[in-house]
Amino acid sequence: MSQETEHVKVLIIGSGPAGYTAAIYASRAGLSPVLYTGGQPGGQLTITNDVENYPGYPDGVMGPQMMEDFRKQAERFGTQVRYGLATKVDFSSRPHKVEIDEQITMLADTVLISTGASAKWLGIESEERLNGKGVSACAVCDGFFFRGQEVAIVGAGDTACEEASYLSNICSKVYMLVRRDEMRASQIMQNRVINNPKIEILWNSETDEILGEEEVNGVRVLNNKTGEKREIPISGFFVAIGHQPNTDIFKDFIHMDESGYIKTIPGSTKTNVEGVFACGDAQDNIYRQAVTAAGTGCMAALDAERYLAEFENH
Ligand code: NDP
Repeated sequence: MSQETEHVKVLIIGSGPAGYTAAIYASRAGLSPVLYTGGQPGGQLTITNDVENYPGYPDGVMGPQMMEDFRKQAERFGTQVRYGLATKVDFSSRPHKVEIDEQITMLADTVLISTGASAKWLGIESEERLNGKGVSACAVCDGFFFRGQEVAIVGAGDTACEEASYLSNICSKVYMLVRRDEMRASQIMQNRVINNPKIEILWNSETDEILGEEEVNGVRVLNNKTGEKREIPISGFFVAIGHQPNTDIFKDFIHMDESGYIKTIPGSTKTNVEGVFACGDAQDNIYRQAVTAAGTGCMAALDAERYLAEFENH
């Protein structure tokens, strides 16, 4: 662990809805929390478009704007929001130690983990080689670059449907690669893509290879029922196949499931380590919504507050 140290009562790692909500509650409780934003300040909502399902916004709100509002609300009550990435932790003794950017060691009576999740990739060579050269995991961020052009998107969950619909407003055609003969997405989202004349769904279709040397110019699709391969000219290739939790740095200390989602004691945000609490997508592979993340962020702050009260009494 690094030399420079600072001791805080509440350290929050991550700046999505969970982290900021925890910060709002902890700062209003007079606990002077310090929040480190992580590598993507504002989290996944900063790479999304309209949020229409967060209560309190009858006309919807843009994801980045919403996270800006969350941050301001947390700062208003005295949260110190700092840019920095937690790079290492040591939860073997108290106070807990969290290293930031390999430079500062934060000593914390309580740690609230709200590190969220990140996009998954297919893991094929051409995807990595052409990343940023036509391959993207964020239609809202990069769709604009392909306006008027033909693109493909892989995935069949709500995210893939949402992003395919988004792309259909910008691009001339969207091929949707679905690996089974049905989708995982909710019925309403499926209907939106099925009824969209600019979206062509390719069922039982896997990505064999993304084509192009310097930039994407096509995709070779394998039909896993017939074994037939087909090349489709496209200039943008979007991956929307789910997410993985950002919990690697905690794995030596915190109990997780096989996918890396942190296990919390049911009905609470407590982890197996006293004084360490987890909230948001880092511990939720079921709901994964902004509003549920915010809810568990609130729980984590209240759990930390109670823990600190007991801790100080002893
Ligand atoms: P999901 O895990 O729900 O879906 C992932 C999709 O990607 C599945 O269809 C899966 O296929 C497919 N997939 C996974 N790996 C591969 C692969 N290697 N090749 C091809 N396809 C693959 O993730 P989402 O990000 O879509 O959604 C996550 C959560 O967020 C869900 O609970 C969802 O409901 C929610 N959400 C809600 C929204 C809303 O309500 N507006 C918007 C976006 C997300 P298969 O089905 O065959 O496993």
